[in-house]
Amino acid sequence: MNQIQEVINKLLEKYRSLESGRPASYIPELAKANPKDFSIAVVTAEGEVYKAGDHTRPFSMQSTSKPFSYGMILEDFGRDFIHAKVGVEPTGEAFNSIVELEKHTNRPFNPMINSGAIVVSGLIKGETLQERQINVLARFSKYLTHDMMVDEKIYLSEKNTAHRNRSIAHLLRHFGVFDSDIEATLDIYFKQCSIMVNTVDLAMMAATLANGGKQPITGEIALKKDYVGDMLSLMFTCGMYDSSGEWAYSVGIPAKSGVSGAIFGVVPGKLGIAVYSPPIDEKGNSIRGLEVFKDLSRELNLSIFR
Ligand code: GLN
Repeated sequence: MNQIQEVINKLLEKYRSLESGRPASYIPELAKANPKDFSIAVVTAEGEVYKAGDHTRPFSMQSTSKPFSYGMILEDFGRDFIHAKVGVEPTGEAFNSIVELEKHTNRPFNPMINSGAIVVSGLIKGETLQERQINVLARFSKYLTHDMMVDEKIYLSEKNTAHRNRSIAHLLRHFGVFDSDIEATLDIYFKQCSIMVNTVDLAMMAATLANGGKQPITGEIALKKDYVGDMLSLMFTCGMYDSSGEWAYSVGIPAKSGVSGAIFGVVPGKLGIAVYSPPIDEKGNSIRGLEVFKDLSRELNLSIFR
């Protein structure tokens, strides 16, 4: 058997019994996830797929969508425009933190945390929410070989409970980081977080980035090559929130997590990897996901520094 397949089969068995953590519950719909769901997928930059576990189970992207919306806005508006509004520094704070906005520059530190991602999503083009949703789905699905959809239940569940994100948006509006309608800005952010994928899809999106922005199977350019490095460097420094330093040290590849329990990572020129397992730690990262990535990096020698 191929070495990648062997390793992911082994890691699935090894970490299946790891039962700490719980699915996110601050978005009520996410609390319904089955904590036992667990899958790993690896897709090479040439489009070869390896998978283990319940890899067809759909889940919402949540924050794993943030690098992709950032890439989309880089293409549409360029670096200078976006980085006048959102910085490129890690915060060392939680993903939904509000303190750094108040204490420091009054603009989000980076596009991988909620405040920065809300500003980025607010720039998605379209007159209506529907047009913006169509736009984001069309752009994200270039990383795949099929169409994508939004889960309306998850979207509404977040929209109806998003008091913290709403307060972040009000503060950003107050500081003039954006001047559009607050609810409209949040709406497209919630929609983007509710886009559905499975583990193979997410690994395929990662493989497209590993392949310099070109979808390995369709050959379509999902993201201009020039911007892939922007995305990956911010994933590397900020993608795992206040675990980013520990992750850089122990895994050593650009990655992004989401509170649905997904983590994807990109080994440039080589592989895209995704793990899905809903129980998360207090920082919002999938617990089995963290362990799988650590082992996988060691066993397949994936750290970009080794
Ligand atoms: N939609 C979620 C939120 O804004 C995304 C957070 C995450 O995945 N870390 O809270």
